[in-house]
This record gives sequence, C-alpha cells and structure tokens, in this order.
Amino acid sequence: MVDFEKPELRETPVVPSIKPGVMSHLASHVAKPKIQEPLGYPGELVDNWEQAAVDKLGELKGKYRSLQVFLDSCVFCGACTDKCHYFLGSADPKNMPVARQELLRSVYRRYYTLPGKWFPKLVGARDMNREVLDEWYSYFYQCSECRRCAVFCPLGIDTAEIAMAAREIMDSVGRGQKYSNEVIGKVFKFGNNLGLAVRAVADTLASLEEDVEEETGVKVRFPLDEEGAEVLLMAPSADFFAEPHVDGLIGYGKVFHQAGISWTFSSHAAEGGNFGLFIGSYDNMRRVAVRVREAALDLGVKRIVFGECGHAWRVAYSFLNTLAGPFDFLDPRYPVPQHICEVTYDLMKRGVLKFDKSQNDHMVLTFHDSCNVARASGMGDLADGQFTIPREIIKATCNHFVEMSPSTIRGATFCCGAGGGTLTDELMEIRTRGAVPRMGALQHVTDKHGVTHMVSICAICKSQFSKIMPYFDFDAEMSMGVHQLVSNAIILDKRD
Ligand code: SF4
Ligand code: SF4
Repeated sequence: MVDFEKPELRETPVVPSIKPGVMSHLASHVAKPKIQEPLGYPGELVDNWEQAAVDKLGELKGKYRSLQVFLDSCVFCGACTDKCHYFLGSADPKNMPVARQELLRSVYRRYYTLPGKWFPKLVGARDMNREVLDEWYSYFYQCSECRRCAVFCPLGIDTAEIAMAAREIMDSVGRGQKYSNEVIGKVFKFGNNLGLAVRAVADTLASLEEDVEEETGVKVRFPLDEEGAEVLLMAPSADFFAEPHVDGLIGYGKVFHQAGISWTFSSHAAEGGNFGLFIGSYDNMRRVAVRVREAALDLGVKRIVFGECGHAWRVAYSFLNTLAGPFDFLDPRYPVPQHICEVTYDLMKRGVLKFDKSQNDHMVLTFHDSCNVARASGMGDLADGQFTIPREIIKATCNHFVEMSPSTIRGATFCCGAGGGTLTDELMEIRTRGAVPRMGALQHVTDKHGVTHMVSICAICKSQFSKIMPYFDFDAEMSMGVHQLVSNAIILDKRD
C-alpha cells in the first residue's frame, strides 16, 4: 500500500497547508510504440516536438471554442483552489485546479498572446520545453477529469477539458499514457477494455446462468450475440468477472427476465467504457463508439442500454449520437441510449418489478454519486434525474438508507480518486490521497448512522473503493452497486 501518514478523516475536508512539489515525483508509465501506434500516435517523441506541441495547441483551441474561452477567461479569483480532492488529499499546490490549468495556459500565453510574445517573464509565459512536458505528464495525469472545480468556478471553467487537451497534445507528439492507451488498443483488438477473448466472455455468461438458477431456481438468461433481441446491453467489462461488479450484472439480467425483455451482449462491443474520453481524443472516442452502432445493426436490436459505468454513461448520454448516430433504426419510443437505472426505475414505477426490501436488511446503505454521472449527464425526464433515479431504486430495495454530508454528494460529489485514466497501480499514491475527502464523509456516516455499505453506479468507483478502502480501515466489500441491491431484493417469477 501507500507510504504516507493517513490523515484524520473529517465529514468535510480541511484545507491543508500547501506542500510545494510533494507530488512532483509521480508519473504514469509512458506508452511504448506498440501501444501508441494503433491509436494513430507517434511511437516516441517526434523531431521538433516542441513546435509540434505548440501547433497542436493552436489546432485544438481553434477546433474547440470552449478551450479557447477557458484559456482566456480565468480571473484568478481562487474559488476553485480548495475544490479538488487531489489537492485536499496531497496539499501539492499544483493540484489546485487553477494551478493545473496554468501549466497549459502559461504555454498558450507564450505563443498565442501578444504580452506573452513580447514580455514572457512579466506575464508568466513559458516556452514549451522538456521540463514543461514532464510537468504536464505528471500533473495532467493527476487529474481525474471529475469537473468538481468547474461547479465552483464562477465562469464555469472546466479543468477537465484543459487536461484532456494537454493529454491529446502529448499523445500527438509521442508521449502517451500506457494505461489509457493500452486499454483503448484492447478495445480495438478484443472488443473490451480487459482484452477478454470471446470464449472467456461466453463461458462467464454461461456459468452465471448456472449460478443464478442454482441460487434462485429461476432460469435467468445472460445471452451473447443473440440476433433479434430487443436490447443491446453495453456494460463495463469489469461486470463480467470482478467482485462486486458481477453481482450488478446478475441484477441487470434479473430485471430483464422479470420484465420479459429479451436482451443480449455483443462480442463485437462487449464493453460500455470509452477511454477515448480520458485522453481527449475525438478520433479514438469515435472509433470506440462506432462499435456500439455496428453491434446494434448486426444484431438487429431495438434499444441500447448502458450498465453501471460512469464515464461510459457520460459518453453515451452526451456524445453517442454525435459520434456514431443517427440511431434512427432503433425503436423511437425509447431514448437513445438508456441507462439501466432508467429501465429499472420505469419498470418499478409501472409495478412490473416488485422487491422484498428485507433481503437487504443486513446493511445500512449510503450512496456515492459518481462524477461523470453527477456532473456530465442526466437521467430520465426528471430534472436532476441522475441524482433522484438511483436513490429511488435504492430506497425501493432496502429499508436503511442515509445520505453523506450534502457538500460531498450530488453535484458537489467528491471523486472516488481514480477516474479519468488514473485507475492504475503506479498512481496509487495520488489515488489514495485523492480518496481522503470521500472516505472522510463515509467515516462520518459509519460512525453516526452505522453505515455498512456504500453504493455507486460506476465500475471505476467500485474498483477504486475495493482497493483503497482497507487502507482507511474499511472492509473492501463495503463497496457495491445499485443493481446488486436490486438483485438481492427482486421477486422473480419462474418464467423461461
Ligand atoms: S477536474 Fe477534478 S481532478 Fe481535475 S482539477 Fe478539477 S477537481 Fe481536480
Ligand atoms: S474559480 Fe475559475 S476563474 Fe476562479 S481561479 Fe478557478 S478557474 Fe480561474
């Protein structure tokens, strides 16, 4: 585990005294040429990469007007400085959002503003050089692109978008992150983030059918590549094998079974996640998203439903139609796409699903809002549906639910500490430090209300919590998914 003194956990975090450079040693593993090249990037730093990086910045600010506005409009008011979980947990001032932005803005100022060209030192403008590149590589991969800072910025400046631009620039000159880029390469090669062979996915689904039938006496199906099914389910690949994720997958299957909705996974697109978002690459995000369209057409489905994965839902909700649409071949009575929570909530409201809440009576639950769902998407027809719908499902499936501190949930939620391409072992130190605000809020409800489990609807959150909770003296099994609760409580008919 990580070698640093565990801070006192508080319901809401205390702003630390700054420790300059304390996280400067941390850097992701760099991608090798065989990982870079399939994504369309140079295998290593290109000749004259400094100018190439400056040119790429010029291209991106022209292409994305928001980036230009964000670079020009910061008034250095300081409202964002204490809003980042990585700053609160590490005390490194470069993890303050405004300082993270300044890493790129100082280069922008040097090459794209008159004061920066004429009086660089006076206006804090910096040349693009190796020192700057190394600093970018370290600190832009200490941003989980969670957008909490943007909520508190009076101008709505989104540091996540600046981090994505910096990552895209670095990739374009041959400096990519091994973790994210390797995952994207696996999607292109195997259809899923984990590099699982079709046979392994098929075997897992077959054994799930056996396990569920043995446990419930009901034949719940987990189909793969079934042509003519109504629903194509896009789940994170962690759902196929990892705990607690797989219990959520069982829950999705039971919901479809009970509602009599035919559904299927696709081996061509057995992955809801889209790491193209994390590296700010429109091209790679599109390549990953197009698989969803191809799978839907090949299988002749009528609806596309996404499972519990935060960034997958963000890409699906915000960009799927732009990236891979139009989806005019799907049933127009349903939104494209849908979230599994929307499906379950609708069925629950119409009385199609019934629950025995007492099946979850051994737990006291709280809900962690995942960043990409909370701050970058919506759900259903309700205003703030992304907050309401998961909570309504939880309340319908258990008797004991309490909220964490209001300043740590809903739109103000704290990141789990490992989103946006940071869920990799070499970043464990910042992952653990970044989890401090969430763990503090959890500790409070554990002490005050006896909370035993924390629910989320994101594969990355679940993976991160299972890994770092023991460090904070919580049981790794405290982390679970909404559809795990659904799975426990749903009353099944013996329908084939
Ligand atoms: S997007 Fe999240 S991780 Fe990145 S600087 Fe803002 S608060 Fe920190
Ligand atoms: S809150 Fe917005 S305007 Fe203020 S310093 Fe942060 S990014 Fe700049």
